[in-house]
Amino acid sequence: MADCLFCKIVAGEIPSKKIYEDDLVYVFEDINPTAPVHYLLIPKTHISRLDEVNADNSAVIAHIYEVIAKLSKEVDAMKDGFRVVSNCGESAGQSVFHIHFHLLAGRPLTWPAG
Ligand code: 5GP
Ligand code: ZN
Repeated sequence: MADCLFCKIVAGEIPSKKIYEDDLVYVFEDINPTAPVHYLLIPKTHISRLDEVNADNSAVIAHIYEVIAKLSKEVDAMKDGFRVVSNCGESAGQSVFHIHFHLLAGRPLTWPAG
């Protein structure tokens, strides 16, 4: 999608620190990490936000969770636990409107979230 920051990252037009990539999914380091591990997992196809997931596009979301499970077996900092967050909408803190899943690990994570 034109003028989408994360579509440009997928296309390589904006540099990023790649962690993992396959046909459907791109994983990269958050530019402003809030934990020792702070990855962003995104579908290569543009979906704006979590409330736009539907029967036609949900397979890639399921695949993102498969990738998270795969990473959890490979990333030492995830062995003690991790958190996955998708902020949906501005009042929930979404600032980039290409759906993404924050993967956080490597420090104690308090609950409830703010
Ligand atoms: P949100 O606030 O939408 O839940 O999350 C957006 C995330 O994207 C933020 O954590 C922010 O640090 C990250 N981010 C924003 N711009 C860039 C960028 O150009 N490169 C990378 N790697 N991360 C970005
Ligand atoms: Zn996009």
